Amino acid sequence: MRVVLLGPPGAGKGTHAGIVTETCKIPHISTGDMFRAAIKNGTPVGLEAKSYMDKGELVPDSVVCKMVEERISEADCANGFLLDGFPRTMAQAKALDAALAAKGQKIDLVINLQCSDEVVLGRLTTRRVCRTCGAIYNVNSKPPKVEGVCDVDGGEVYQRSDDTVETITNRLSVYKAQTAELIDYYKGNGVLRDVKADVNKDETASAIRSLL
Ligand code: ADP
Repeated sequence: MRVVLLGPPGAGKGTHAGIVTETCKIPHISTGDMFRAAIKNGTPVGLEAKSYMDKGELVPDSVVCKMVEERISEADCANGFLLDGFPRTMAQAKALDAALAAKGQKIDLVINLQCSDEVVLGRLTTRRVCRTCGAIYNVNSKPPKVEGVCDVDGGEVYQRSDDTVETITNRLSVYKAQTAELIDYYKGNGVLRDVKADVNKDETASAIRSLL
């Protein structure tokens, strides 16, 4: 099963990815996580991505597409994968389709997480993340048991540098200008399923389960 998680920043892509990967036994491929790892390791891709990410802009298609195409060619993706944060532009969606078509493959399901700007803004300004394992917390609704310490692995729980009001606002306009059109593209391919993501977490989780 080859699945794409679509939705604005803060819709809950990272939060709900685990349901899909555990149910379908497929790897989770988050381009945002890959870039953050590249920045941490000081790789050339990381150095290039950082300037865009800090402003809430998109990393150039050529960089992202190459990185994803290499990743989905790895052995653990033979039976499928979950893409989170990719594709984000029409050019990326078309490059992905072409890369898959060359192997006789296609995207089977696109889960479109629908969430209002207001909810997104509220969630992202209060979001915190574990620096080592990526576990997601929220200062209001899901704080770690000990402040600043991850419940899962004891890593540092921090605020992403792009989770500021200014950058979030920019990420939202980038989503509307460049990513939202993918909804119609995948609807046209007959693979898009809408899921309400501004309701409570369990409701969203069970709607996702019912699609798998
Ligand atoms: P969110 O969905 O909360 O915005 P991500 O972790 O998916 O966060 O992405 C963080 C940043 O990484 C984006 O704002 C962008 O700069 C970069 N990025 C991630 N995925 C892509 C992509 N597919 N194309 C271009 N840039 C990307």
